[in-house]
Amino acid sequence: MNCDIAHVRGKKITVMGAGRSGLAVAKLLKRKGALLFLSEAVSRNEKMAEVEMLEKQHIEAEFGSHSPRIFQSDFIVVSPGMDLSHPILQKAREKKIPIFGEIEVASWFCRAPIVAITGSNGKSTVTALLGEVFQRDKTPCIVAGNIGQPFSDYVEDTVSDGVAVLEVSSFQLESIDTFHPKVSVILNITEDHLDRHKTMEQYGRIKSRIFENQDDTDLFVFNGEDSRIVAFSTRARCRRAVFGVDDPVLDCSFVRQGALTLRIGGREELLLPIQEMKIIGDHNIANALSVALTARLMGIGSGIIRHVFRTFRGLPHRMEFVREIHGVKWIDDSKATNVFSVWYALGSYVEPVVLIAGGRDKNSDFSFLRKRIEEKTRGLVLIGEAAHKMEKTFRGLRPIVRADSLEEAVVQAQKMARRGDVVLLSPACASFDMFRDFEDRGNQFKSIVNRFP
Ligand code: ADP
Repeated sequence: MNCDIAHVRGKKITVMGAGRSGLAVAKLLKRKGALLFLSEAVSRNEKMAEVEMLEKQHIEAEFGSHSPRIFQSDFIVVSPGMDLSHPILQKAREKKIPIFGEIEVASWFCRAPIVAITGSNGKSTVTALLGEVFQRDKTPCIVAGNIGQPFSDYVEDTVSDGVAVLEVSSFQLESIDTFHPKVSVILNITEDHLDRHKTMEQYGRIKSRIFENQDDTDLFVFNGEDSRIVAFSTRARCRRAVFGVDDPVLDCSFVRQGALTLRIGGREELLLPIQEMKIIGDHNIANALSVALTARLMGIGSGIIRHVFRTFRGLPHRMEFVREIHGVKWIDDSKATNVFSVWYALGSYVEPVVLIAGGRDKNSDFSFLRKRIEEKTRGLVLIGEAAHKMEKTFRGLRPIVRADSLEEAVVQAQKMARRGDVVLLSPACASFDMFRDFEDRGNQFKSIVNRFP
């Protein structure tokens, strides 16, 4: 694929899916003069707002099923939510119709160098932190991608002397082609989304696509403590830098004597004592190390990074402090949708934790959490579809109660907690069994907790 396809004017393009990024890329392509068609499997009645928006934009669309009209396209754009093994896409491939993801398509129109961040956990935190660093530096910057702001909505705001900071998920990397970040970052690769990617090998292979188009003028920043990433990092054809370890060869960032430390071009620099950071936990130290190294290698001054680390409070639903009631702190970590984020969350508190967990299982191995639960929790309150499997996995370690609703879970947690404890909603599961998404789950939790007298 070459850049000619960037001239989408007059091309017949089908966008699959009327989700947030599907709608955004449809509008972008429409503005660029494409002959657009949108195909959505969900019925018209359930997508009234989207139907209205598409009509307003004069974008032709079908709802309720995918018709053969799709096969008349010059190419197809898929939303990240759509499984690439879907029969309709298999058929399109048989007919040699190219299929691209939204991130790929938006990148054709990007004027700024791209910093792309992926990983199993920490993507949004690192993307937001890096965005803050560039903003504080007054570098013209967009922050977009999987963080909830489709790249297609922001790409036209990019300028050549600015930067586009993008969070990219494995689902988005599955459907790239020429996507070419100036700087790529892989934070960690731990078990997640195995319901879709099947094996860890496959999941890792997809994540490593982030650097497949990079060359020797580019940079790849990776986690030196993650053996899986270290193993495949040598495949990158660009300059490499590593965070989390004191590397004798590569530019690196690590913790020494309680302080974030950098070594770039052989020069060592003490950046900041860890206690001065607002966000807590070992995972956030790793996140900060990746941000500091990336920002410094992109020419940002240490003073700016220091300031951002001292003031950044973290994103909502990521170990977000909600309220303290009768000496019990209530924390919303609804974004913790896999076992690893819960493992780090539990490790971040010195207080005993009453853990509210459960939801839709992603084929996870919850036994990974057994030791942490035994060491760190006072008890568990389990909700959602995974409650039964979790109860079986954790039985005998700590007291367990089941709850049918989040309200009931909060009441049960309140009964279990003692003064000085933390009540942590950190589900280790997806939210879709009981909620619209993790934000809905976190917001409902916060509003229940905030309604307490
Ligand atoms: P992502 O965008 O990759 O889902 P977030 O920054 O939204 O990552 O954080 C998701 C969850 O993972 C939160 O519960 C957060 O506390 C936790 N987390 C953040 N960074 C890391 C990390 N580096 N390793 C493990 N867990 C993390």
